[in-house]
Amino acid sequence: MTIFERAKLVIPGGVNSPVRAFGSVGGEPYFVERADGAYIYADGKRYIDYVSSWGPMILGHNEPSINAALKAAVDRGVSYGAPTLLEVELAELTCEMLPSVDMVRMVSSGTEAVMSAIRVARGFTGRNLIVKFEGCYHGHSDSLLVKGGSGMLTLAQPSSLGVPADITKNTLVADYNDIASVEALFNKYSGQIACLIVEPVAANMGVVLPKEGFLQALRDLTTREGALLIFDEVITGFRLSAGGAQEYYNVMPDLTTLGKIIGGGLPVGAYGGRRDIMELVSPSGAVYQAGTLSGNPLAMTAGLATLKKLQEPNFYEKLNKKATILWAGFADNLKKLGKNYAFNAVGSLACLFFTDKRVDSFKSAMTSDTKLYAKYFHGMLERGIALAPAQFEAMFACAALSDTALDTTIKAHYEVVRGL
Ligand SMILES: *Cc1c(COP(=O)(O)O)cnc(C)c1O
Repeated sequence: MTIFERAKLVIPGGVNSPVRAFGSVGGEPYFVERADGAYIYADGKRYIDYVSSWGPMILGHNEPSINAALKAAVDRGVSYGAPTLLEVELAELTCEMLPSVDMVRMVSSGTEAVMSAIRVARGFTGRNLIVKFEGCYHGHSDSLLVKGGSGMLTLAQPSSLGVPADITKNTLVADYNDIASVEALFNKYSGQIACLIVEPVAANMGVVLPKEGFLQALRDLTTREGALLIFDEVITGFRLSAGGAQEYYNVMPDLTTLGKIIGGGLPVGAYGGRRDIMELVSPSGAVYQAGTLSGNPLAMTAGLATLKKLQEPNFYEKLNKKATILWAGFADNLKKLGKNYAFNAVGSLACLFFTDKRVDSFKSAMTSDTKLYAKYFHGMLERGIALAPAQFEAMFACAALSDTALDTTIKAHYEVVRGL
């Protein structure tokens, strides 16, 4: 029996998060034994890893300063359920790095961060409705597991069994990069919308960049309508720049949700923002939110050690330089091979779509040929390169990538894309 077969007997689908099961690319997932730098070792093979634990491993795996800090932390005990200096330090650093964040609350996942931020937005505004964009992912809480209705301005439908329509009727769905679709919702539901949540760079429908002026238009519209603007920076936070997408695009949200990098590979999420809003959170205010393991000392230690590394001089210049070499190599390959597939990239995030349409929306992303992606994925994997096992995910470049690893990746990309 393979490990995957054993897993399927005791874990639904054999995995603890669906995309890991290779459902959309076919075949069996590899089972990881260890990881180091830009590499993961699985089933006796070595892969250059562009999954990066879905973003957290921006420094690469097994980063010495994080490991040393974690090992020392283990010896001091792994959980107390009482406050620590570490939590204060990570909160201070987060507020210092993210320009719009005055106060922050630690939780244990991105899902929890988003769920809580939405509760705060509703508490602050006294309104119930929320707006999200089709194709943006904000974790698996009930309110956010929706798909667009059959037409514009119709109510969202649950996208999962077990989510009551009574809950999702409070969620409205707009089209990413289409400000008119947002204006239409605000016109129809004027005075009832608590918040609009957006991934400033949509990185869960592949990678889709915001059009020039789109984020600012969301800022202006929500301000005018008295709704809060929430940037879900679970991927972009500490990724696009030290100050996330808000700094990169210079648009300030009211609330920000964080996850992935802020935990350095341990389970951490966080939500924060304007002081007058965050003071509503319990125990200082009346919006209840709590967590037994929130601010866990090991998780805080990994997060702190990670953010400290990110503050080293020119960290983002160096990371983005590596990424740029890779993306330029890919673009060059496509050109040489005469393939006009859409290739979107920003900073250390990228996605290759198997379509000749420009991908700047959910709809255009959906024109990608996912069967070709599956072939591409398996071709790369055979050549020792681990990409996300699904089309509509980002490719993450990490700081531990060597010139050799970049070169190997570009060559493999050429061969695989040529064979498609
Ligand atoms: C991953 C992700 C989440 C959910 O975070 P989890 O830690 O998986 O719960 C929320 N928002 C965005 C943008 C994400 O990429």
